Amino acid sequence: LISTSARAEWFRFSGSAMTTPIEMEFWAADRDQAERLSRQVFAEFDRIDHRMSRYREDSELSRVNRQAADAPVVVSDDLYRVFEQARRVSELSDGAFDISFGSVGYFYDYRRRIQPSEQELAHNLPRINYRDIELDPEDRSVHFRQAGLLTDLGGIAKGFAVDRGIELLRAGGIRHARLSAGGDMRLLGDRRGRPWVVGVRDPRREEAMVVRLPLADVAISTSGDYERFFIDDSGTRVHHIIAPSSGRPAEGVQSVTILGDQALVTDGLSTAAFVLGAEQGLAMINRLPGIDAIIIDDQRQLHYSEGLMPPEGP
Ligand code: ADP
Repeated sequence: LISTSARAEWFRFSGSAMTTPIEMEFWAADRDQAERLSRQVFAEFDRIDHRMSRYREDSELSRVNRQAADAPVVVSDDLYRVFEQARRVSELSDGAFDISFGSVGYFYDYRRRIQPSEQELAHNLPRINYRDIELDPEDRSVHFRQAGLLTDLGGIAKGFAVDRGIELLRAGGIRHARLSAGGDMRLLGDRRGRPWVVGVRDPRREEAMVVRLPLADVAISTSGDYERFFIDDSGTRVHHIIAPSSGRPAEGVQSVTILGDQALVTDGLSTAAFVLGAEQGLAMINRLPGIDAIIIDDQRQLHYSEGLMPPEGP
């Protein structure tokens, strides 16, 4: 007789959801269990995308964007939770993270190399203001204090989904797992007695790693100016992380990696620190217990938060 544990092994699955590549790797008792769990995780990503995508007209988020300026819109627990966390990160970053950046962000189309005109920018910039997103915890509703405000959860929803995926794996009996959605990753346990090794990539060389981190039981999110961008006629890199103050791509940083215990938290903070820049970004992170950061600035300098010792050389 072969016991189930004797057949346990590593299983890997990849796919795509939320317009992002999804990868998972975990130690499971057998193929049936592994496939069942991976299907659950992918289904959960799809469910969350149907709630939170701004690219789907029928998503809950799109309904909020259409209706919340007229009257408060009661939303699902999940969406409310993400709005609440977005608000927290906005407060921590003094508005550098702001889901209402969408008011201007919707005018960017990176695939078609389109950015807002000066006129569109002038007209919509005043609509970026997280303080105009009223959240009522009593009836779990969202209300916009101004018309024309549009929210976009691209900087936070994947982190929420990664946390959910890890919860599903854990509930299914998994003890060692790695789950990533684009730049957001979470590790459950270690790699059976060894750490997982996670690389921080070089923002200008796709295959090259700048740092390798041995990790376990952690959430890790990276925001970079190389993920979605185009180079415009003047040679400017027009990327997807928008400074709410200008409505234009944030300058001064190439990538930010944040470590913490929840991907919902690290996802929002990586975007926030990117907009704040190396100095202010690190100041914000150093004030937060249990959160660390590695920032690569536009001179390719590495900056570490106080909780991280610089790794030894090659
Ligand atoms: P990803 O998880 O896709 O790598 P990031 O976590 O790096 O994304 O966040 C970038 C995304 O955040 C953008 O694609 C956009 O949807 C959203 N975003 C851009 N600027 C801001 C901002 N100032 N505040 C909140 N969200 C933003």
